[in-house]
Amino acid sequence: MISKRTIDEILLVAKIEEVVGDFVSLKKRGQNWVGLCPFHEDKNPSMYVSPRLGIYKCFVCDAGGNAVQFLMNHEKISYPESLKILAKKFNVTIEEDVDKTQDEIVADSEKESLFILNRFAENYFIEQLFETEEGKTIGLTYFKERGLHENIIKKFKLGYSPEGWDSFLNFAKKNGYKEDHLIKTGLIKKSEQGRLFDFFHGRVMFPIHNTLGKTVGFGGRTLKTGEKISKYFNSPESEIYHKSDILYGFHLAKKAIRTLDNVYLVEGYTDVISMHASGIENVVASSGTALTKGQIKLIASQTKNITVVYDGDTAGIKASMRGIDLLLESGLNVHIVALPDGEDPDSFARKNEDAQLKLFLEENSVSFLIFKAKVLSKEAGKDPMKRADMVNEIINNIAEIPEVIARAMFVKECSQLFELPEETLNIQLRKAVWKKMNQNKADSKDPNNSETSSIESVATNDSFKLPTTVESRYDAVDAMEEKIILLILKYGMFEIDIEKQDNEGVYYDQIRIDQYLFDEFHDQQIKFKNPLYQDIFFEYAEIAKVAENQDKIKNYFSSHSNTDISNFCIKHLIKEDPDYSHLWESKFEIITRSVRNNINKLNNKVESTINSFKLRKLEDYRELIFLVLKEECPEELLPSVSNKLSQLNTRREEIAKLLGIVITK
Ligand code: ATP
Ligand code: MN
Repeated sequence: MISKRTIDEILLVAKIEEVVGDFVSLKKRGQNWVGLCPFHEDKNPSMYVSPRLGIYKCFVCDAGGNAVQFLMNHEKISYPESLKILAKKFNVTIEEDVDKTQDEIVADSEKESLFILNRFAENYFIEQLFETEEGKTIGLTYFKERGLHENIIKKFKLGYSPEGWDSFLNFAKKNGYKEDHLIKTGLIKKSEQGRLFDFFHGRVMFPIHNTLGKTVGFGGRTLKTGEKISKYFNSPESEIYHKSDILYGFHLAKKAIRTLDNVYLVEGYTDVISMHASGIENVVASSGTALTKGQIKLIASQTKNITVVYDGDTAGIKASMRGIDLLLESGLNVHIVALPDGEDPDSFARKNEDAQLKLFLEENSVSFLIFKAKVLSKEAGKDPMKRADMVNEIINNIAEIPEVIARAMFVKECSQLFELPEETLNIQLRKAVWKKMNQNKADSKDPNNSETSSIESVATNDSFKLPTTVESRYDAVDAMEEKIILLILKYGMFEIDIEKQDNEGVYYDQIRIDQYLFDEFHDQQIKFKNPLYQDIFFEYAEIAKVAENQDKIKNYFSSHSNTDISNFCIKHLIKEDPDYSHLWESKFEIITRSVRNNINKLNNKVESTINSFKLRKLEDYRELIFLVLKEECPEELLPSVSNKLSQLNTRREEIAKLLGIVITK
């Protein structure tokens, strides 16, 4: 049996487009890939592959499913066979694997040999530490001097590698271990003269384990002082030791991390061990290097809360801020504890009682963002340019935070710290969030096209006062606006399929409704007339990226501190809109049933709602311009006004065409 965890991991990392792409020639179309469906006689590409959803789907013969199912159906193989192929292709280690094929046994045996050798070495070093005179007098004494009791030494499987240059080498050879493997693990090195020797000789040994507790490498600390060689030696990268994916102490910390929902990040082996000795078990070390994405993934799999424990000197902190930004970007909630000057977690844990240490860590844990803001603020001093940069940097960090409430609290705190009004920071924050949402779009935008027609600019320009005769129309617009804002609040995260065209013809692409609206409104600079809706729209942009589902959004606005907003939402968000909801239900059954018709209906509904709204706005502005032209328009403005008018007419005709409306005047 393949474990559930393995299956989940396979599904997580298997790239559907690569799996299907091995058998079908695929072309990128928008977010999706398309190709000829291999499950029926296909003349035109009707197989769609969606990397985001991890599925393939033929719109003609109804074949569809995930990567595992694709292989099963295409290769006529069993479920476990399909999983095994994918695991291999995407480098997932299968847990609890029995019933292997001969090939797999051969392929895995190499890795397995290295694991076995490392375990053998680990036991050898432990035996040396506890059972030999040399080990006891040198190694064990050293650990005891460091304040480590036998239970902790055993828990971390610490050991001792003897002084002799070939003690381990001889013992391993005698037990039949291959030279090739000894060198691959780094336990044995070859000198320039070709002589083999124990790499770690004369050192106390810290075995390094993977998440499953298997020994993947070692750190060895010399006990000699004043030598030129490094204090620590470490095993090299190997087939079983990928440093960027290993956190020291993780397998021993996992349970405590989950229970306490927080992990302490420290620098090295001794820090982890001393904290365990003091009763703190939710602790891991990055082992010298800056945190990697792989290590962050490991942390994030257990908790969202990480507390970085720092040595007292501030120089190091500044240097590591970039690395910590990476933690923030992955949505983790980062705190920091600075230890008193000159202390590292190891020395500090040894000097203090267990309870004192716990208390210190709890009481001195500050949000990293605030900590960073303080450090930067101090550094920027009174220089306005530096302060502006600093504010921007912090605002960008705040924009990464998923929870709206947490963001609001940070804004409040930073506003005091920077002596800037909260609203100023909020405006910057909105911009930052907006920028992030539109980043992909902006990247692909044609720079020549930035002068798009601005509908709004005519009306907001101070020289044009709104003529009273137009006001009556605003009731109708308000109703339309309400429809749009409710569409976002209720269904913003749902997707519609939009028709796109490239030089090979028309194809379908999916886009979230909120994204679609933001893009359209942004491009054409459309704003809501009703300020309440405009506020909701802005705030929606902030939370949409991070809210897990539509209900979270509804709840958020229904319990908004602005009672106008919450009342509006409570009134309107309770009942489903029959126009849309049943159509989406069928859309979600897309894999099992052909519901193209319903999808089209749905898309048409959404699009026509949006288009009607746009048309309405255009009509208003057009009217406005006519009025302005009738009441004397200043001579010098005439060319730009008539230019605007013709732009509006073109847009209006385009939209009317989309809506199937014939414009008569
Ligand atoms: P000391 O007893 O002098 O404090 P230490 O063994 O505690 O020595 P430190 O120099 O305090 O080591 O370093 C703290 C941690 O940093 C160590 O536990 C180790 O994990 C890690 N470390 C230090 N130097 C290296 C190195 N060269 N390679 C890998 N890790 C290192
Ligand atoms: Mn130390």
